[in-house]
Amino acid sequence: MSVNTSTNTSVKEIFHTMEYGTATESATAAHQWLASKEHTFDHYINGQWQQPNSKQYFDSTNPANLEHIAKVADGDVADVDSAVAAATKAQKSWQALSGHARAKYLYSIARQIQKHSRLFSVLESLDNGKAIRESRDIDIPLVARHFYHHAGWAQVMDSELPNHEALGVVGQIIPWNFPLLMLAWKVAPALAMGNTVILKPAEFTSATAVLFAQICEEVQLPEGVFNLILGDAKAGQAIVEHKGIAKIAFTGSTNVGKLIRQSTAGSGKKLSLELGGKSAFIVFEDADLDSVVEGIVDAIWFNQGQVCCAGSRLLMQESIAEKLIIKLKQRMEKLVVGDSLDKGIDVGAIVDQSQLETIKKLVLLGVEEGATLHQASNCDTDNGCFYPPTLLTDVEPASTVAQQEIFGPVLVAMTFRTPAEAVQIANNSRYGLAASIWSENINLALDIAPKVKAGAVWINSTNLFDASAGFGGYRESGFGREGGKEGLYEYVQEKWQSTLSDKKPSAVKVSKAKSVTTKSVENSRIDRTAKLYIGGKQTRPDSGYSIPAFDVQGNQIAEIPSGSRKDIRNAVEAANKATAWTNTSGHNRAQVLYFIAENIDARADEFAKRISQLAGKTPAQAQAEVELAISRIFSSAAWADKYDGQIHTPPQRIVTLAMKEAVGNIAIVAPEEAGFLGMISTIMPAIAMGNRVILVPSQQCALLATDFYQILNTSDLPGGVINIITGNRDELTDTLAKHLDIDGFWYWGTKEGSKLVEFESAASMKRTWVNYGKYYDWTSSEQIEQDLFLRKAVEIKNVWVPYGA
Ligand code: NDP
Repeated sequence: MSVNTSTNTSVKEIFHTMEYGTATESATAAHQWLASKEHTFDHYINGQWQQPNSKQYFDSTNPANLEHIAKVADGDVADVDSAVAAATKAQKSWQALSGHARAKYLYSIARQIQKHSRLFSVLESLDNGKAIRESRDIDIPLVARHFYHHAGWAQVMDSELPNHEALGVVGQIIPWNFPLLMLAWKVAPALAMGNTVILKPAEFTSATAVLFAQICEEVQLPEGVFNLILGDAKAGQAIVEHKGIAKIAFTGSTNVGKLIRQSTAGSGKKLSLELGGKSAFIVFEDADLDSVVEGIVDAIWFNQGQVCCAGSRLLMQESIAEKLIIKLKQRMEKLVVGDSLDKGIDVGAIVDQSQLETIKKLVLLGVEEGATLHQASNCDTDNGCFYPPTLLTDVEPASTVAQQEIFGPVLVAMTFRTPAEAVQIANNSRYGLAASIWSENINLALDIAPKVKAGAVWINSTNLFDASAGFGGYRESGFGREGGKEGLYEYVQEKWQSTLSDKKPSAVKVSKAKSVTTKSVENSRIDRTAKLYIGGKQTRPDSGYSIPAFDVQGNQIAEIPSGSRKDIRNAVEAANKATAWTNTSGHNRAQVLYFIAENIDARADEFAKRISQLAGKTPAQAQAEVELAISRIFSSAAWADKYDGQIHTPPQRIVTLAMKEAVGNIAIVAPEEAGFLGMISTIMPAIAMGNRVILVPSQQCALLATDFYQILNTSDLPGGVINIITGNRDELTDTLAKHLDIDGFWYWGTKEGSKLVEFESAASMKRTWVNYGKYYDWTSSEQIEQDLFLRKAVEIKNVWVPYGA
């Protein structure tokens, strides 16, 4: 490795060594700006610079030389309170502006960022330690692009997102690895959609956020629309917990993401989480190895590896592994580590001493666990937080360094034999943020891309980002997308959402159990033992218990099985085996859905009678409900082969395929008050998109669900796609929420149940959709429109395919 020094070297020596000299970017303007701020960063609230309520500040330093940059306001609850008050006051009029008016503000911000791009990049590098080459050529241009792109979305919001509205005040908490870029990813869509913002940067990196606030001042963004709260975790926590905030957008560690999920559970706050990763960089034997090596440099040594989607797990096909490692080691030796403002360096400083210690500890642990350490031979670590580019070989897929995010310039290498094994190792991770696939065979690469559990897949490329393409993870890498149209939905809601009430609709009749007698069961002339439906088979409950089922008059008419933990486990296992449903075509799924509709139609009278009996509907109402349910199945079938993806066109020579994929196993606790229609309206879009469902039906109308599985048996639906577990809804909800192999959870029930689902889902980061105890109108085509349900039933994966002869 070359270390950047400015010693007096003769020309002859330079010719011999070919070592780079320093080419330092001037920091004069940045230092002048810091001096203009008296090296003090305050909050920006309601268009004013405000000292912290506590009057406390902490120091921020340049990690490349440990020089003091500024003292930073230490925000607390009182500061957050005044920011929320300002943002709340500003929100209605900001939302009421035309999309065009908001677009003009975003456009002005983009222009100002471009005009001051050099100051922004130098400041970013000083504050964070990242190479100026990266902040200048990657971070800041992407920031400007983000504001331009979202100015466009503000302009076309009315036509592109009809019947949607802003959420209100949003709280945004960002990390230190891409300070201004993360700000842009969050602020631009939020403002475009008519929300007002309270943003908290990471305590290590506040500088460019302060400069951004100054730009908001310069473009005369209305007071209170953008508010900046500086500080540490307690300021972040105050934002998360504030009752006046409608949405939290967070980027950072998975641990804090889980805490935020738990602390917002049941509050009704919308949440998007962009968390950690351990992304696979898969190299097949036919890849162009020289390109691969450059790809690896960009994957793991870009930004010192402090990248959530860093390609930190190198998976090499066995036949080329040795050759690739030799090339890689040669390239590592040539990487230049040094001061972030030197334009010739490849690798800058780690953001802070604490992060450096974490990296060192994890590498040591890797070696203790059997890995072989390769580091470039020379790295000057004396004057700042530097760590050399590092490669660990002989790593076991299950070892700590292969599983845990190191968040530093550390690559772990493993081998595989077949494409199937590559996929298996790539997916052997609790994360699912990104992956790179390297092969000259595009068929192979495009075959592997959908199989890897990751939100972004780069083919023969890595770490590509653009405002037009959504970015976000699967699994414990979080949920929600940032960028593109998919990202806008994180900042809007359907207008009818705010009209929902927690009062039960008067039309809903509830059965009250009369005394249970065998006679009443006999009188109803139903003597059928309903069963659970698991893996396509009628199954007795593991507990051996049943619970009585009543008609609307309160007469016991049958017994339904009381499902338990074991039955849920079996249902999830059956769902796991039904992946052929996920992989089959939308056309094939549509055929099965039409068949289900046809079979219900054939028994429509029977279902209508049962609806009358259980829910007290008149025959005409019940008939109409069956007809509506059949129509909804037709809609889901119609969309099964039409709700397809998009092709984004980032400014580079790349096509980005935004592919819609099934979420996986979805638990659905159907609305209690809307027996048959609620059940059909929820499960059909889920399975149309290829998900497998574990359904807990309405308890009052459970018999309808057990009638329904007879339909499934005769409709060619493969076993395991829909599994029906009847019983105590609260207990089943609790078990489902805690199950680690369920990917999504849709819940319509009580406020408390909603809170439980969100809280317990934090452990495995299930995608939750709950009603917070509010009642939907299941007959309303506006509310139960397909688009919302279909959107919840898919994850969007962006597959980046560069082209060029
Ligand atoms: P954190 O997740 O702790 O911090 C991210 C942001 O959240 C910061 O603004 C932080 O404030 C704030 N924060 C911290 N705790 C809370 C809380 N309880 N409630 C609300 N906000 C909170 O990441 P770190 O900076 O500590 O980095 C630790 C590890 O996280 C890294 O080693 C890396 O593995 C991962 N990470 C992942 C990132 C990603 O992009 N996915 C980015 C950064 C880190 P403050 O800075 O003041 O602590």
